[in-house]
Amino acid sequence: MEEQNKKMEFGMDPERFEAPLERIKHFNEFHAPVSLEKQQNQGDRCMNCGVPFCQNGQLVGTMFSGCPLNNLVPETNNLVCGGNWEQAYERLTKTNPLPEFTSRVCPALCEHACTHNLFEPPVETKENERAIIENAYKNGWVHSAPPAVRTGKKVAIVGSGPSGLAAALKLNKRGHEVTVFERSDRIGGLIRYGIPNMKLDKSVIDRRMEIMEADGIKFRTGVDVGKDIKAEDLKKEYDAVVLTCGASNPRDIGAPGRDADGIYFAVTYLAANTKWLLDGRKTEESPISAKDKNVIVIGGGDTGNDCVGTAIRQGAKSVTQLEMMPMPPEERADNNPWPEWPRVLKTDYGQQEAIAVFGHDPRIYKTTVKEFIKDKKGKLKKAVIVSLESKKDEKTGRMQMVPIEGSEKEIPAELVLIAAGFLGSEKYVTDAFKVEVDGRTNVSTNDFETSVKGVFAAGDMRRGQSLVVWAIREGIDVARAVDKNLMGYTNL
Ligand SMILES: Cc1cc2nc3c(=O)[nH]c(=O)nc-3n(C[C@H](O)[C@H](O)[C@H](O)COP(=O)(O)OP(=O)(O)OC[C@H]3O[C@@H](n4cnc5c(N)ncnc54)[C@H](O)[C@@H]3O)c2cc1C
Repeated sequence: MEEQNKKMEFGMDPERFEAPLERIKHFNEFHAPVSLEKQQNQGDRCMNCGVPFCQNGQLVGTMFSGCPLNNLVPETNNLVCGGNWEQAYERLTKTNPLPEFTSRVCPALCEHACTHNLFEPPVETKENERAIIENAYKNGWVHSAPPAVRTGKKVAIVGSGPSGLAAALKLNKRGHEVTVFERSDRIGGLIRYGIPNMKLDKSVIDRRMEIMEADGIKFRTGVDVGKDIKAEDLKKEYDAVVLTCGASNPRDIGAPGRDADGIYFAVTYLAANTKWLLDGRKTEESPISAKDKNVIVIGGGDTGNDCVGTAIRQGAKSVTQLEMMPMPPEERADNNPWPEWPRVLKTDYGQQEAIAVFGHDPRIYKTTVKEFIKDKKGKLKKAVIVSLESKKDEKTGRMQMVPIEGSEKEIPAELVLIAAGFLGSEKYVTDAFKVEVDGRTNVSTNDFETSVKGVFAAGDMRRGQSLVVWAIREGIDVARAVDKNLMGYTNL
């Protein structure tokens, strides 16, 4: 109760979010903006700080803490506190060219590192960021500003996810002629066809794309580089090529019966639903629908949570989410102090919705699928799940999750969604450009340049599956490296 009061006092009222049973009736964002006055109070709270850790993105322990973009959080919050919204927008966009994306989907490393977090809820920096950028759009401060002078250099960017978009913005601003190639029918990468509408409405991407086009950036969708265009041709035509193709190679589940009809990778499922919505729901149901089905989501992370939320909106009969690892503690353990990233239990929007609909948390920990059972026609019918325990591997000495014999259980399943992580870059692209990759198939680089001269890489394709905020950071950094390479120096 005391915690609840504190949250109300500082403006974190739960009413900001539409109630789970209401929001599952649609696929729209369910987060209502807060009044600018309330946000000013949050800026005010930031001013109580002595040493800000929020802006100082750095490794603390084994994980990253604070903003990877080094957003000037206290300075921006100070401007918000004084109601100087236009200056706050300018200060924020000095470090973050795409705050409309991060303010919706970032796990807010800044807030977890916030000094207030030691005693009470953190300053709502992410919420302030959203208020700043939405207010800026409303007031017409975000507008086209093509470069006054062109350098005559041409850059091709392959992949239009947040990394490619950030790189395009920066390189175009510098005066280079930028073309973004995207194999999909619409731009945005995983912020378009991974992250569902509920978290990020796709009009937010279209709004930014229009300004980028007006600035002179060209977008070529439906072009698969390495297949539709030869890598060699692209290299010949452009002065530099930037690969921001993501890390979309999904990790599979090698259980018997895997070929049953009704088992999909999470992104295939999520993309099908988003495309169905964007194309105007021309069929009654999404091509991969959970309606009236028992759904199993394999993987307890954010992608799995997005599948849970989507399946519930589609009218699933039941949703079970399997996680191999044990349930994390509800509060920080002694060996995980502030300002480290908190390794604690997070009950995200999809799980909250499952609790509201089915009356229980959909997650089962220390469990995986041992076998998929299909009917005579090859359709998925059931899954055999098995409990796991942590045991030391005699050969390597490493702890491993291993099945507990006799713990097998059959559960009904007509739809299984595999959200078990990603394995790195796709081979046909790295082969086409003949760039070196590391043991995890991430593209190897030296100051963002690959083993092939004039070909650069950034984002998930370089660092492995990560976060939107990191993709943007990499986009900014690769633009700097390309500019230096083309001009001999950089002022980006
Ligand atoms: C379901 C899901 C939910 C997520 N939720 C969050 C979240 O809430 N918050 C967060 O911070 N992060 C989240 N992430 C992670 C985040 O989306 C990624 O880290 C980020 O999008 C990576 O950006 P990127 O630009 O490097 O690559 P991507 O976004 O993967 O974009 C790569 C683009 O390159 C295109 N491409 C690939 N090869 C070619 C080619 N040969 N020719 C032309 N185009 C090509 C692809 O079609 C794609 O559009 C989520 C990821 C998933 C899968």
